[in-house]
Amino acid sequence: MGYVGAMNTALPHVAIIGGGPAGLAAAEVVAGAGTARVTVYDAMPSVGRKLLMAGRGGLNLTHSEPLERFLGRYGAARPRLEGPIRTFAPSDLRDWATGLGQDTFVGSSGRVFPTSFKASPLLRAWLARLDGLGVSFAPRHRWTGWTDDGELAFATPAGALAVRADATILALGGASWPRLGSDGAWVDILRRRGVRVGALVPANSGFDVAWSATMRERFAGEPLKGLAVSFGEVTVRGEAVVTATGIEGGAIYALSGRLREALAGGEAAVLQIDLKPDLSAETLAERLARARPGESLSNRLRKAAGLTPVAIGLLRECAGPDIPRDPFALAGRIKAVPLPLTGVRPLERAISSAGGLAFDDLDARFMIERLPGVFAAGEMLDWEAPTGGYLLQGCWATGIAAGRGALAWLETSGRLAGPGTGP
Ligand SMILES: Cc1cc2nc3c(=O)[nH]c(=O)nc-3n(C[C@H](O)[C@H](O)[C@H](O)COP(=O)(O)OP(=O)(O)OC[C@H]3O[C@@H](n4cnc5c(N)ncnc54)[C@H](O)[C@@H]3O)c2cc1C
Repeated sequence: MGYVGAMNTALPHVAIIGGGPAGLAAAEVVAGAGTARVTVYDAMPSVGRKLLMAGRGGLNLTHSEPLERFLGRYGAARPRLEGPIRTFAPSDLRDWATGLGQDTFVGSSGRVFPTSFKASPLLRAWLARLDGLGVSFAPRHRWTGWTDDGELAFATPAGALAVRADATILALGGASWPRLGSDGAWVDILRRRGVRVGALVPANSGFDVAWSATMRERFAGEPLKGLAVSFGEVTVRGEAVVTATGIEGGAIYALSGRLREALAGGEAAVLQIDLKPDLSAETLAERLARARPGESLSNRLRKAAGLTPVAIGLLRECAGPDIPRDPFALAGRIKAVPLPLTGVRPLERAISSAGGLAFDDLDARFMIERLPGVFAAGEMLDWEAPTGGYLLQGCWATGIAAGRGALAWLETSGRLAGPGTGP
């Protein structure tokens, strides 16, 4: 890995702050052009920690669905992300990974994973490529803002450091899982400069439920598979997991934006859970009606409806003591279990954060208009997307867009030839 200082100082300097996927993608683009020297600064002792964490349960790099549907996953931010994602599409991300010796495959849900399933071989190969391109890495450099002279200010183990950069790319991440490095401390730094930043709030998060002691003690950690979960007009198929404090998992994450807003607005957030979405209420009722006389309710639910113990526990928990015995009424309950949520799990435990730097303060090159020469990319921008590979794809695509933007800025501002200036 290169060290700060061992570089061609005749070239303009591009400082990339944040060594997650967005920052590293920007570094590859800028260093690949060969017209600037690139340093990646990161507060942590090593880069890519959240990417490595994402790889723990299988690194879901992107998704294989048609691009039009893929773009629809970004909701209100689609118009701002569409250009970068069309430029660096899911197929490009897969080709790029293959180029680093990490073939990918499409899982049964359409999600794309490296064949190794992990992030570490990909990150290792990527860092070796960046090293080969001459990128320098400055770990344990916590960015704290700008000096009065417009230089980048860092806190390092050796004390405060000021760095002059001709262009800066901020890729500081959101604020979930802060122990992996992204803690959202940048929000105040940018707000003090007049940049609009929406509060970072949990996205793809779990929710609190006031479980009974029985439910919590018997079923925490148990998966609920093959559900259809609805909130308002939206229904999502997938899985959930009962936790000691509530409920989480893919189907819940997909609704988390709407649920978060409902709770913030003081509305009741009651999920409707269909425990048997592949069976009609009639079919289910017929099966329940066929049970032997005298059979216990639990046995009926297990044998006739095929419910797991945790699903039966959930049904009982939400139906209370009045659980109906009539097959039709019981089938109706199984297909619409009302689960009231009492709060959002804290940001520290969310997969990602929503909110962030307002797109209206960025130009088409991903440059912060108030801070000429300063670009931003990745999860720190104000967009959110469900799990499924959309988060990483968005980070890669915006990192590349910001890297290209910085190169264009160096060229148009004449910095490719002369000494640098700060913002
Ligand atoms: C458990 C978990 C699993 C996930 N799984 C997936 C998945 O399978 N698929 C998917 O698409 N997404 C997944 N995600 C989300 C994905 O990992 C993130 O969206 C992505 O890493 C964000 O990339 P980024 O480059 O914007 O920021 P980050 O990866 O957060 O990187 C930001 C970097 O900036 C550094 N930094 C922050 N502040 C400073 C500062 N002041 N000075 C210097 N450095 C600083 C941090 O140390 C960090 O290295 C997962 C997230 C989690 C937590």
